[in-house]
Amino acid sequence: MSRFNNTETALIHGGISIDERTGAVNIPIYQTSTYKQDGLGKMRGYEYSRTGNPTREALESLIAELEGGVAGFAFASGMAALTAVLSLLHSGDRVLISSNVYGGTFRLLNKVFDHFSINYTIADTTDLTVYESQITDDVKAVIIESPANPLMTVTDIRAVAEVSHKHGLLVIVDNTFMTPYLQRPLELGADIVVHSATKYLGGHSDVVSGLAVVNTKELAEQIAFIQNSTGGVLAPFDSFLLIRGIKTLAVRMDRHVYNAEKAAEFLESNNAVKNVYYPGLESSQGYEVNRRQAKNGGAMISFELNENYDIKKFFESLELVSLAESLGGVESLVCHPATMTHASIPADIRKKVGITDGLIRLSVGIESIDDIIADIAHAIELSEIR
Ligand SMILES: *Cc1c(COP(=O)(O)O)cnc(C)c1O
Repeated sequence: MSRFNNTETALIHGGISIDERTGAVNIPIYQTSTYKQDGLGKMRGYEYSRTGNPTREALESLIAELEGGVAGFAFASGMAALTAVLSLLHSGDRVLISSNVYGGTFRLLNKVFDHFSINYTIADTTDLTVYESQITDDVKAVIIESPANPLMTVTDIRAVAEVSHKHGLLVIVDNTFMTPYLQRPLELGADIVVHSATKYLGGHSDVVSGLAVVNTKELAEQIAFIQNSTGGVLAPFDSFLLIRGIKTLAVRMDRHVYNAEKAAEFLESNNAVKNVYYPGLESSQGYEVNRRQAKNGGAMISFELNENYDIKKFFESLELVSLAESLGGVESLVCHPATMTHASIPADIRKKVGITDGLIRLSVGIESIDDIIADIAHAIELSEIR
């Protein structure tokens, strides 16, 4: 639990936020691989930086406090964090995944963990009856994203956690899109939260990193063991960058969301736009559930243009908004899920889960919303097939 009543304060003062030795208000970058021992068995708390490093530890204690967990762990990427968490499983186990999880998560299970006979099933976490029927005896865990990437599908985390726990499943939530400022899955019943901290937590598109937070001492011991054994740890400098990014999360998120709500309204009212997927719109699939479990709809929007618009031309006509993978940075980005973030999902599965070739994903940045909308409006205009 956080020592602070408000997340805005915990973002700045949570975890280990002052350097004990000097009083420095920023934890120094402890750029060291090893630590002098005062004698055999006499260590000062650190022995080797894969096992523990003070800068990384400051970040780990911060994310644990923000998510309300027992312990946090920092990894070299979101995928390294997910790999560590999935390493809790044994061969023969099966994982359920929400129907539009991040493409890399799908690939990790489909192409790597399958070597170790760890299986997966794409599950419908939005329908509890269907979901429960998918829990066979070998299912040991579920990975939920809410909102899920890229159709912003909302899952009722509390309800799915309840059903899952009835069957002894480990409930893992990828909270990348929401961050602990907007949604805290452990409070909703999840056991483990993972993040691609590359996105909103870092916030400046300058560091690749991953985090995991667990809600029991037992899981903490297991993940600490896996983290040290498999070694995908975050470097001291990158840990510093992430702590620095997290301090401004609340002000950035407020602006991201303000801009996203305006952008979603603009898209919804535009005749060239066929569908808008944004949990902050009352017309969207998961509006009510999302409102119950999260502070607001976040800042990720997906949309489709009508058939008489050339999507290739649309991407080429944007001037301010960049075509790029990733999301959650201060700058607005668009991507084409079918050929970029979700290209590792086979076409037939993509079609089945609704990731059409015309789908555009927008990460709304914190520039002037007038400039963002003007750029998108201009690109839509130029992309019309006459
Ligand atoms: C980007 C992303 C990941 C992967 O994280 P990396 O830091 O790129 O390894 C996992 N889940 C979600 C939802 C993401 O957006």
